[in-house]
Amino acid sequence: MQAGISGSKSEGADSIVLSGGYEDDVDLGDTIVYTGHGGQDPVTRRQVADQKLERGNLALARSATQGLPIRVVRGPDPASPFAPESGYRYDGLYRVEDFWSETGKSGFRVCRFRLVGLEFALPPQSGPADGVRSSAGPPERVAQTLLRVVRDTALSRQTKHLYNFTCQVCGSRLVGPAGPYAEAAHIRPLGQPHNGPDSLDNLLCLCPNHHVLFDLGAFQIADDFSLIGLAGRLQVLSGHTISLDHIRYHRQHYSVL
Ligand SMILES: [Zn+2]
Repeated sequence: MQAGISGSKSEGADSIVLSGGYEDDVDLGDTIVYTGHGGQDPVTRRQVADQKLERGNLALARSATQGLPIRVVRGPDPASPFAPESGYRYDGLYRVEDFWSETGKSGFRVCRFRLVGLEFALPPQSGPADGVRSSAGPPERVAQTLLRVVRDTALSRQTKHLYNFTCQVCGSRLVGPAGPYAEAAHIRPLGQPHNGPDSLDNLLCLCPNHHVLFDLGAFQIADDFSLIGLAGRLQVLSGHTISLDHIRYHRQHYSVL
């Protein structure tokens, strides 16, 4: 009755409730950066320990890796312009696009999940919105996404050509009848809340397996480009400057929980 996440680690999460219980939650309407559960003192509700990727948090991570949608219910929260004034409201299906961990406002590690609405149709904002939140409403977000995709395509192509479609982790080069195939991976992810840049110093050329493993946090990159969690080191061409800030960001947010 009290848990914010319903589900199991084997089947994934089926629903969450967003009700202002965690100080690190960010509600942008069509995008929610949701804090996992655990580590709170039951009486004071303050964060007193690190969260781990277990129970409901593991269920939400499973929903992400399996592509399973979850139901989002919003409860009253004076800090969110998208919350109902009273009671609880079902707000439709969201997918869990990404998960990571970071140091929260309390100083303890918290699990974080980015949820993106599948059918975004919220009622008008119920209360006075602050400038930051109202400027992040749905119309602007659509425009930003279109711009990002266009820029991303050119830079992704440039990165792949630079490495001749060879994976910087394993050195493999996949070739099909239509030519070589590789993927451009952003080190610090694009979009809320990471806001990684679309720039060559934030891009890697990877095979699909290593792209997925990197995004899942199965391995990280050290400052000297040796790999953490995998043997070997990242191959970097002399003409390709990779931002140490971005690989540190990835390490701090996508390391073992
Ligand atoms: Zn690879």
